Amino acid sequence: MAKNFKNFIGGAWVAPIAGEYYENRNPADWTDLVGRFPSSGPKDVDRAVRSALQGFARWRKTPAPARGDVLRHVGDLLTRRKEEIARAMTREMGKVLAETRGDVQEGIDTAYYAASEGRRLFGHTVPSELRDKFAMSVRRPIGVAGIITPFNFPMAIPTWKIFPALLCGNAVIFKPSADVPHTGTLLVECLLEAGLPPEVIQLTHGRGGAVGNAIVGHPKIPLISFTGSTETGAKLGEVCGRMHKRLSLEMGGKNAMIVMGDANLELALDGVLWGAFGTTGQRCTATSRLLLHRKIHDRFLRMLVDRVEKLRLGDGLLPTTDVGPMINKPALDNTADYVEIARGEGAQIVCGGRKATGGKLANGWFYRPTVVAGVKPGMRIEQEEVFGPVLAVLKFGTLEQAIRINNDVKYGLSSSLYTKDVHAAFRAVEDIDAGITYINAPTIGAEAHLPFGGVKETGNGHREGGWQVYDFFSETKTVYVDYSGRLQRAQIDTYEA
Ligand code: NAD
Repeated sequence: MAKNFKNFIGGAWVAPIAGEYYENRNPADWTDLVGRFPSSGPKDVDRAVRSALQGFARWRKTPAPARGDVLRHVGDLLTRRKEEIARAMTREMGKVLAETRGDVQEGIDTAYYAASEGRRLFGHTVPSELRDKFAMSVRRPIGVAGIITPFNFPMAIPTWKIFPALLCGNAVIFKPSADVPHTGTLLVECLLEAGLPPEVIQLTHGRGGAVGNAIVGHPKIPLISFTGSTETGAKLGEVCGRMHKRLSLEMGGKNAMIVMGDANLELALDGVLWGAFGTTGQRCTATSRLLLHRKIHDRFLRMLVDRVEKLRLGDGLLPTTDVGPMINKPALDNTADYVEIARGEGAQIVCGGRKATGGKLANGWFYRPTVVAGVKPGMRIEQEEVFGPVLAVLKFGTLEQAIRINNDVKYGLSSSLYTKDVHAAFRAVEDIDAGITYINAPTIGAEAHLPFGGVKETGNGHREGGWQVYDFFSETKTVYVDYSGRLQRAQIDTYEA
């Protein structure tokens, strides 16, 4: 009998108020039921908010270094439970174990970074323009933070948001993707075991349209941090704009790798295989376009197809698997539709191009790693995010042309250039419109202590990771202390001799 999992609300593991659950199944084998998880709704969110407000009143007064100590302990617990959590993650969302271990490691790195930030959380002290006056800025917590996350990094992305939110003194209501509720549950277990006061974290499982929507529209939740598709982000933006909420959006990508004629082709080949087919192409930073200089185009394409055909599809828990399943049937069908669209646009499917069925793959959502060649700028396969194991290949003549193609999409998350020419490398760093540019490395590989995020329709100007995310989760208060004993008027009584 599969277990009925619970929400964590009001300091206790509780059933959803309506008593409704949904099934979470293994995408590599849908006969494997991970568990039933709450289909929460607005009433559950309301309860969570009431509790979180109590948690906030207490937590905001806890000194930041002490908040950091709790997060350090969370890092220790994640380290201890790394293998167990990685296995649970692969089981519920499919990516191979090496990647789910990396996903947990990113959570660990983020925990230790947050812990050290507890002793930093800098404000500024600057000279006043008046005598005998002190001028500074300090950071304050904001309130209850609504955290809404996608399926593809079930540990890393929630920790990118939850740890800085907590470190800054906020309480959190966490809604993980309905496809990965188990990993979200394990994360909350670690937070509680580490000594976080229970009202400071609330976990509400369920569908975006129900519980996610209720979080975004709740008047007592002043800040929302969301990672997901650009379409969903746009809906959130409308509500948060109307309600004057602080909103951080991290959304879709259509990332390109550019390979110049002088590049180390073996290096670029390893890079594009990892970039395009890691996480079965379901990464916001996935390499979904490969721009090849005409001098090396045909040779590189042959090398690529040879390697892609050797990639082994299967259950991510098996050591023989290179590429796991897709997250669910709609994602699989969407990928298949895009390949048909590419065919219809006149591109050539040079390998893959169909679902993988039969044998050990019979009960999973598998799509063969696919390379589409002869793609032209402006085709839908070149412009739109597929979020599957499909790589579109284009040919270019000059770096300027490649950068133009790179930039001519609505997204701007990650980018990559392979070259030995330092001039080309710095030209690309300057001219590519993206939040991240890699030189001689694939489009994926973010490190927890650097800012992460995109431009154009990938984001709305905020960054996760590193030091910058702490700006999002804290409010600045400016403080003036006048010890002159008389009225001093700014801009008027200044610069007296
Ligand atoms: P999604 O937009 O379908 O869902 C993301 C989250 O939003 C889920 O928790 C979902 O339940 C919730 N949601 C859905 N509708 C909602 C609504 N109306 N109100 C409130 N919440 C709602 O995305 P997904 O399929 O889980 O993830 C894939 C997408 O995420 C891709 O577009 C990918 O590029 C993007 N992504 C971006 C980044 C980044 O940092 N830029 C990282 C990972 C994934």
